[in-house]
Amino acid sequence: MLDWRIRNARIVDGSGNPWFHGEVGIRGGRIVAVGRLGDARASLELDAEDRCLAPGFIDAHTHSDFSLPTFPRSESRISQGVTTEVGGNCGFAPFPVEPTRLDLLRDSSSFIAASLSWEWRTAADFFRHLETKPLSLNFIPLVAHGAVRIAAMGFDRRPPSADELARMKALVAEGMEAGAAGISSGLAYAPGIFAETEELVELCRVVARYGGLYATHMRDQEAGLLDSVEESLRVGREAGVPVQISHHKAMGEAYWGRVRDSLARVDEARAAGQDVTLDVYPYTAVSTTITRFLPPWTLEGGVGALMERLRTPSVRAQILDEASADRSVKWENVRVAAVRKPEHAPYEGLTIEALGEAFESAPLEAAVGLIVADGAPFPIIRFIMSEEDVQYVLRHPAVMIGSDGYAMSPALGSKPHPRSYGTFTRVLGEYVREKKVLSLEEAVRKMTAFPAARFGLWDRGLIRPGQVADLLLFDPQRIRDAATFEDPHRYSEGVAWVMVGGQMVWQDGQDTGAVAGRVLRAGTE
Ligand SMILES: [Zn+2]
Repeated sequence: MLDWRIRNARIVDGSGNPWFHGEVGIRGGRIVAVGRLGDARASLELDAEDRCLAPGFIDAHTHSDFSLPTFPRSESRISQGVTTEVGGNCGFAPFPVEPTRLDLLRDSSSFIAASLSWEWRTAADFFRHLETKPLSLNFIPLVAHGAVRIAAMGFDRRPPSADELARMKALVAEGMEAGAAGISSGLAYAPGIFAETEELVELCRVVARYGGLYATHMRDQEAGLLDSVEESLRVGREAGVPVQISHHKAMGEAYWGRVRDSLARVDEARAAGQDVTLDVYPYTAVSTTITRFLPPWTLEGGVGALMERLRTPSVRAQILDEASADRSVKWENVRVAAVRKPEHAPYEGLTIEALGEAFESAPLEAAVGLIVADGAPFPIIRFIMSEEDVQYVLRHPAVMIGSDGYAMSPALGSKPHPRSYGTFTRVLGEYVREKKVLSLEEAVRKMTAFPAARFGLWDRGLIRPGQVADLLLFDPQRIRDAATFEDPHRYSEGVAWVMVGGQMVWQDGQDTGAVAGRVLRAGTE
């Protein structure tokens, strides 16, 4: 007796092979039969009505570790078919916590509008904490280089001492022991920006012992894009770890088109035997923090130290002076994503240029004014990529899909990047059906079997007997993202239902409330 029998489906099985008509039988949370099921009986039957049945989407790049405790139902993700997400990216994670440096860690996560209870210390504590929440989907953790560095040496702008490096290695090992799939770095952000390549090599050597990977938000995705690719490859080679280049792009009009060179370099490395892959999201705008426009030294000592500097008129003037030197920034393309204080809510969604008009000052000066008034740096959205590049990167066979978004629900409010709600449905609607950049099967492969293999999920990502029944049904003619920059909290269209481990978590446009998710710990699956 089956639990579920799904009839009349167009099966897009995750392998990249052309879809085929068939049925799927599920028992005990796993797929037990595919194809023709004859007279097999089931407790529940579903008629797919010739729509597409695919493995649940695996989001290779998210920041949900900061928001799942608050939004464990992850409506932004399950509504578009995501059933597993990889967190701890870009060097950011809420663990490990060194109690004497908790403030530094907490303030550094202000780029995400979520409040955490901070009642854990180690990676294992945090994973257990997550699992006390009613999770709808599965979570794969990474150890974050920035968080580890903060725990060992705060926001110091220097190489670690031998003791500090030893401490960092021990913390990386602790995270890997707890089940992290690898380590991430965010070398464009403090404190990652203070680290030299050798430090990353040393830490990745620890990761190599556990068979983990190195995911990197590279040091420079503008003028130094190709050097940054070299640095990423070097870390992988010297430490003996696979490399995952995060949210690949060339930022800034002057550098558009360079993704052709960077991907050619990746092809060359792969041809020479180096294991390197990438991810991308289907938008021409990034989401980051306003501190991105300030000189790195301003963050030495952490966000508290930055705030102190900005409140000191002479230092603030010096910072504005240095920061204004970069004349390439187009402030009309940078928008405020979220603020803390309710009285500043009218600024959400405004461009920094418009903010300047509102404050009757230069744009950057107005932005710094808002940081001070709001009590913390705020997240921003910046339109800075070319559509042609996005399509070029999407097409590359070693590129998978990663949203760079996070778990949230419409209750969050503010104006976050729409990618949290729309990445996967946008690829299928805009880039498969409308622009024909990818075939349906290739797009689904980049969302399923490919990331599954990358993160060691050997029983997910395909529709095959024995695989976990993470599935979704969608209408290939109707599927599309609905979330926009103006109105980001909108659920996608064309997704009929989503199942995690054989339990329905999203159906008829609603969260079913089923608690089907958990932390997928590497080495224990
Ligand atoms: Zn990043």
